[in-house]
Amino acid sequence: MRKYLVAGNWKMNGSNAANAGLVDGILAAQPGSDNVELLVCPPFPYLAAVAAQLAGSTVALGAQTVSEHEKGAFTGETAASMLVDTGCRYVLVGHSERRALYGESSDQVAAKFAAALAAGLKPVLCVGETLEEREAGQTEAVIDEQLGAVLESSGVEAFQRAVIAYEPVWAIGTGKTATPEQAQDVHRHIRSRMAARDEATANAVQILYGGSVKGDNAAGLFGMADIDGGLIGGASLKAPDFIAIAEAAASLS
Ligand code: PEP
Repeated sequence: MRKYLVAGNWKMNGSNAANAGLVDGILAAQPGSDNVELLVCPPFPYLAAVAAQLAGSTVALGAQTVSEHEKGAFTGETAASMLVDTGCRYVLVGHSERRALYGESSDQVAAKFAAALAAGLKPVLCVGETLEEREAGQTEAVIDEQLGAVLESSGVEAFQRAVIAYEPVWAIGTGKTATPEQAQDVHRHIRSRMAARDEATANAVQILYGGSVKGDNAAGLFGMADIDGGLIGGASLKAPDFIAIAEAAASLS
C-alpha cells in the first residue's frame, strides 16, 4: 500500500527566525500516522540549519532544484552530492516555475532527475499543463511529453526511487484548485502510462497533487484512488496550515 507524502515547497520565502518557528510548529504537531510522510523543501541557504533542526525526526528534507552536472565550473549551481551532504533526501525537479521562468526544458529536467538519482536523492518530478493547454485539450499530451522525457532517459524502474507531482500550472498559487475528479483523471492517466511499461512500478509510485491545496480541500483530493498526497506551496509556510493538510491525509489512512 502506498503511503501519503505531504511535501512543503517553501519557494523563495523564509528567514532563519521564521524557518525555526515553522519547523518547531511542524515537529510539535506531527500527525500520528505511520502512513503519512512529511517533507519540507526550504531555499538553499537554509538547508543546513533546517537539517540540524530536523535531526532525529521523521520529517524529511529536500531542495527545490539541482544541477544536472556533477561538479565544476557552473557558477551559482548546486550539485546533487552537495544536497546529500547537507542532509537532503529529496529534490524537486521540473517545477513549473523552473520550466517557465528559467527555461528548463523537459530534457534538462530529465538530466536533473538522473543526476539526483545517481547521487542517492529521491527526485520529485513535477509535471503539469497551463490553462491554455488544458483548454486546447492538450493536458495528456503535455504530461506525456514531460513524463516521457524522463521515462526515455532513466527508464520506468527509476520511479521505484522517485515521486511524481501533478501540478496544473493554472492551480498553482491562484487559489483555483483542480476538482478531485479533474486531478484523479490526470493521476490515473499518469499511472496507466507507467503501467504500460511496468505494472509493479506504476502501483508503487507516489503521485502527488499540487495546486492551492489547503486544509479544507485536502481530504477530497487525497481520497481519490491515485492521489497519494500533495506538494504544497502557500499553505506550507504556516505550521497549522501544513499540519491541517497532513492531518487530512492521516484521517484517510
Ligand atoms: C507549488 O508551488 O508547488 C504549489 C502547489 O503552490 P500552491 O500550493 O501555493 O498552489
